[in-house]
Amino acid sequence: IRRNAGEAEFHQAVREVLESLGRVVAKHPHYLELALIERICEPERQIIFRIPWVDDKGQVQINRGFRVQFNSALGPYKGGMRFHPSVNVGIIKFLGFEQTFKNALTGMPIGGGKGGSDFDPKGKSDAEIMRFCQSMMTEMFRHIGEYTDVPAGDIGVGGREIGYLFGQYKRLTNRYEAGVLTGKALAYGGSRARTEATGYGNTYFTQAMLQKTGTDFDGKKVVVSGSGNVAIYTIEKVQSFGGKVIACSDSSGYVIDENGIDLALLQDIKEVRRGRISDYVKRKGAGASFIAADKGSIWDVPCDVAMPSATQNELSGKNARKLVANGVIAVGEGANMPTTPDAVKVFQDAGVMFAPGKAANAGGVATSALEMQQNASRDSWSFAQTETRLATIMRDIHDTCYETADEYGEPGNYVMGANIAGFVRVAEAMRMMGVI
Ligand code: NDP
Repeated sequence: IRRNAGEAEFHQAVREVLESLGRVVAKHPHYLELALIERICEPERQIIFRIPWVDDKGQVQINRGFRVQFNSALGPYKGGMRFHPSVNVGIIKFLGFEQTFKNALTGMPIGGGKGGSDFDPKGKSDAEIMRFCQSMMTEMFRHIGEYTDVPAGDIGVGGREIGYLFGQYKRLTNRYEAGVLTGKALAYGGSRARTEATGYGNTYFTQAMLQKTGTDFDGKKVVVSGSGNVAIYTIEKVQSFGGKVIACSDSSGYVIDENGIDLALLQDIKEVRRGRISDYVKRKGAGASFIAADKGSIWDVPCDVAMPSATQNELSGKNARKLVANGVIAVGEGANMPTTPDAVKVFQDAGVMFAPGKAANAGGVATSALEMQQNASRDSWSFAQTETRLATIMRDIHDTCYETADEYGEPGNYVMGANIAGFVRVAEAMRMMGVI
């Protein structure tokens, strides 16, 4: 704790994993002698750097950039970049730590890393975004590469930002190294279904979990928080499985539409116009309502399935108790660590099925690994082929978590199943490589 002072989210993520490891250590006591737990909790490398850029008024701005290269036992570091004013080293470390186990769960040859900046993209012009991304890459390019570290998107970083970052990398290195970043547009080496993958993947995982108890999304009322990349494609897939998504949000508040969220309208507001969620009600009119963030929580809306897809610690113990009182039967985490530890306990004590993000939202990074495969073989797969691979991967991750929980005497505990299965894969690779 002293070594990582003030890094609350990192402590939270580590504690959650360590709480699952008692039975692992009992089964593999040599992990203690090899200090594998301590080694896994320490990032291999952390890079913190200055990002100077010039805004549209000619004013020089300074942001801070981060890349935490957490663990490369299974492959090159892999994980997204987050642009949000709340970003600090503790947040990037928690995300990199989670990413390491998530990537292990996919079964693909990728290590764990994460990065970002405290840059706030809201209200910035395209030109400002471009200058910022170019400045960031001017430092970052020396630390990344197809065989070293492969960044991607996260909060505030989508196709536009990846394009600017890739353009600058290509210019600085004079190499067309398509595999250095994922989340690229199709026009220059992207993969079909990458944009959709995290939301689709969480829906596949949650569907598999529901099916374990003999039910599915059909006819269920679903609440999805957020209205960014993960939320939008969760809504699309849930709707295609017959579920009715009745609410979604952004940081300003949430909308309820009892007729079911109009996805085309939501995409126009968020993906095309980069607007606010209240615009949905202005344009939809009767049947939809907007509740500002300081007036209520999206988790007050009664539903069968809750899919938090915005940010960390967005669903508190109080929110969980409300969801349980309203009859929720399953929770699938699209975001990273959106549910606080006390909320997870409320769900588990109430017998609510709970899919932790490090398993349920792994579809994004799994499809990024498929993008790397396509880049390496200079190939481009169809949407259907890519989505079929994604669906199989998510089914496998679900089964791995389920079976591991069973094996370690905690049937139905997906948190424990995910933590143990992910940890053991990384720990075994590290053990075989010696003291690294
Ligand atoms: P986006 O930037 O596309 O969307 C984020 C959404 O969450 C927006 O609606 C945003 O609202 C809302 N949000 C962000 N921060 C806050 C906050 N502090 N309070 C309330 N709402 C907030 O990001 P993504 O959809 O890509 O990411 C969402 C989550 O999913 C993150 O936890 C991310 O780490 C995780 N994830 C993403 C993956 C991906 O492939 N994109 C892969 C795996 C996990 P507003 O616009 O008002 O800020």
